[in-house]
Amino acid sequence: MIEFKSVSKKYSSAAFALHDVSLSVAKGELVYLAGPSGAGKSTLLKMIAAVERPTSGQVIVNGHDISKIKKSAVPFLRRNLGLVLQHQRLLNDRDILANVMLPLIVTGALTSNAEQRARAALDKVGLLERARANPMELSGGEQQRVAIARAIVNRPQIILADEPTANLDRVAADKVIEALRAFNSVGVTCMISTHDEQVLGSGARVIRLEAGALAGGAA
Ligand code: ADP
Ligand code: ADP
Repeated sequence: MIEFKSVSKKYSSAAFALHDVSLSVAKGELVYLAGPSGAGKSTLLKMIAAVERPTSGQVIVNGHDISKIKKSAVPFLRRNLGLVLQHQRLLNDRDILANVMLPLIVTGALTSNAEQRARAALDKVGLLERARANPMELSGGEQQRVAIARAIVNRPQIILADEPTANLDRVAADKVIEALRAFNSVGVTCMISTHDEQVLGSGARVIRLEAGALAGGAA
């Protein structure tokens, strides 16, 4: 479902953010992307979403070569991706239900239909009873779970979560991971980046990045 073939990425002047990375992730897998800050985790996830393009190599998502994809095709690619990116904010001028409905509304869904699906998504992350709360009333962990609900409400095949547990305490972090794992258990392919070794679930596959390269070769 996701394949990197000798992918390197260099931002303007700096050293390689990623160097010769080859990996593949199968449909339905849950994969942690581990490594210290600056290792290239965000860069790797951004390339899957065509937020960044590789400097060399190929990134293939669902059979499409992202390195060659036309700009006009990017929104179609993203429809299959749920993105939980860092520094992504909920909108504080509306309640969390409206925040989760938004991706459906912008793609033209009927309000009643969007509300039903948004409520189902909030239920899956354990926040249905807070549907009418404002994002500012929620804890950081709850806000992160709302962001996950918003990312999956379009029923993407893949969810990419960039440091979703950053700045959360252990209990809140566990709930965020649990929410992601719940979607994985119904078949959504998940990649979760973290610099926190304690987040890594037992049994799950871990891909390690160190200074832009895979620790231990191709994954
Ligand atoms: P991580 O997510 O593991 O912290 P990043 O992918 O954010 O790592 O960063 C990898 C490297 O690329 C770092 O050295 C970082 O400074 C650099 N980098 C990331 N984004 C940019 C950018 N937009 N412009 C220049 N350098 C960047
Ligand atoms: P930026 O890096 O430009 O601030 P974001 O990091 O918020 O933007 O998101 C990158 C891109 O991905 C944006 O163009 C946004 O519209 C899109 N995007 C974010 N979340 C989703 C989602 N859940 N489904 C589809 N597209 C999304």
